Amino acid sequence: MEVDMMKKVPVREQAPAARAKNFEEVCEGYNKEEAMAEATRCLNCKNAQCVQGCPVSINIPGFVKELKEGNIEEAYKVISLSSALPAVCGRVCPQEKQCEGKCVRGIKGESLSIGKMERFVADWARENGIKPEPAAVKNGKKVAVIGSGPSGLTCAGDLAKAGYDVTVFEALHKAGGVLVYGIPEFRLPKEKVVEKEIENIKSLGVKIETDVIIGKSVTIDELLNEEGFDAVYIGSGAGLPKFMGIPGENLNGVFSANEYLTRSNLMKAYESDSKTPIMKSKKVAVVGGGNVAMDAARTALRLGAEVHVVYRRGESELPARAEEVHHAKEEGIQFDLLRNPVEIIGDENGWVNGIKCIKMELGEPDASGRRKPVEVPGSEFVIDVDTVIMALGTSPNPLISSTTKGLDVNAKKCIVADDCGKTSRDAVYAGGDAVTGAATVILAMGAGKTAAKAIDEFLNK
Ligand SMILES: Cc1cc2nc3c(=O)[nH]c(=O)nc-3n(C[C@H](O)[C@H](O)[C@H](O)COP(=O)(O)OP(=O)(O)OC[C@H]3O[C@@H](n4cnc5c(N)ncnc54)[C@H](O)[C@@H]3O)c2cc1C
Repeated sequence: MEVDMMKKVPVREQAPAARAKNFEEVCEGYNKEEAMAEATRCLNCKNAQCVQGCPVSINIPGFVKELKEGNIEEAYKVISLSSALPAVCGRVCPQEKQCEGKCVRGIKGESLSIGKMERFVADWARENGIKPEPAAVKNGKKVAVIGSGPSGLTCAGDLAKAGYDVTVFEALHKAGGVLVYGIPEFRLPKEKVVEKEIENIKSLGVKIETDVIIGKSVTIDELLNEEGFDAVYIGSGAGLPKFMGIPGENLNGVFSANEYLTRSNLMKAYESDSKTPIMKSKKVAVVGGGNVAMDAARTALRLGAEVHVVYRRGESELPARAEEVHHAKEEGIQFDLLRNPVEIIGDENGWVNGIKCIKMELGEPDASGRRKPVEVPGSEFVIDVDTVIMALGTSPNPLISSTTKGLDVNAKKCIVADDCGKTSRDAVYAGGDAVTGAATVILAMGAGKTAAKAIDEFLNK
């Protein structure tokens, strides 16, 4: 296969018109020939910047070298030394800001397609039944992990590999956190990818107990004092949606993106015989510009609606991954940028029938360094919609902090933890979105990894 060293080997995708009507995966990934061809573009830098860009420090040149030589199993072993969820990360990591953003190839041409190669290696390993190695010897110590999202799963996997007896407690009926209830099937297949990577973590000896709400079913104090756990890791995420506080948010037809996506992803609401049906809307406004907004918008589109993303800043400030914005536009989602909702308008029966917005312009940079949007006086206008989905971010649920003695939280209700994940409470560690607020899969995994190491050191003092 001929390779242009300056450009990524193109990846196959479903055509926009077809995929806008189905929930099948958009990106079809590389085959072996394409992945090996892309690997030949690696410069094998001595001081690999890409590794520094990866929050879990995957030996990227190491796995790419094995891939280039066709040793896919070896490539998988290199990746799985650092990551328990490579097929997930290969699909959803913001590589353009991390490993690929640092790739030296990218200075003059296009960076290496690290995410797509990682995805190929992980998919190949799964299809060929290759699994990570379990610990040879158990050490008899017990650790409880709260939450089965990427942070909890990573911490659990690393501790199990180090010989601990690990139990993950998950509030929902399915393990995976946002990977199963938030990110849609067309970006991250559940049965084919997420469930299989969770099976790999279970094969290391990790037990997962679903339908257990820590703080209600049992408290952290009880886990430590009565249930025989030696340490606890909190990876409970940030699942509490934020609203704008504007008039009309209580109308029928207003959803948080979390509820909308959970109904669709976890309850398969898009299937005709679903027990938790979702509104088949005609015209939808999604408020927000992050990954969650893109996922909600593209889900509503697939359910048959015309979709408008309403975002108060401009195109270059959109916080969503570049690939998601590109895909959303290709599929026909309309971006109403520099617009901010001021009211949701209802009909006489209490259902949404419009959203009043005001035009915005960008002023001076704010504390986040981004230019602050300011209202243009007298520029209000109405978009006729029957559904409004709020995708404005989330914060941690206070249930755990309010039921655990001596566990400090900050003003945003995030658990306070040091760089190793240690909290104010002895033997209790925390990481991922529960500590940082809504962030990314790989940062949550990085925190789980760091905390696993700290827990190991603490229990071996
Ligand atoms: C729609 C959507 C799309 C996203 N897209 C991307 C993307 O493309 N790329 C990316 O990198 N990031 C993305 N993110 C962000 C990313 O998914 C999160 O940062 C990441 O999942 C955080 O991992 P976590 O393990 O900390 O928490 P979570 O994934 O939220 O998992 C926490 C788990 O803890 C459980 N839990 C909570 N409270 C309790 C309790 N009291 N007892 C027991 N269990 C409890 C929850 O049910 C949940 O399963 C997206 C987020 C959303 C919502």
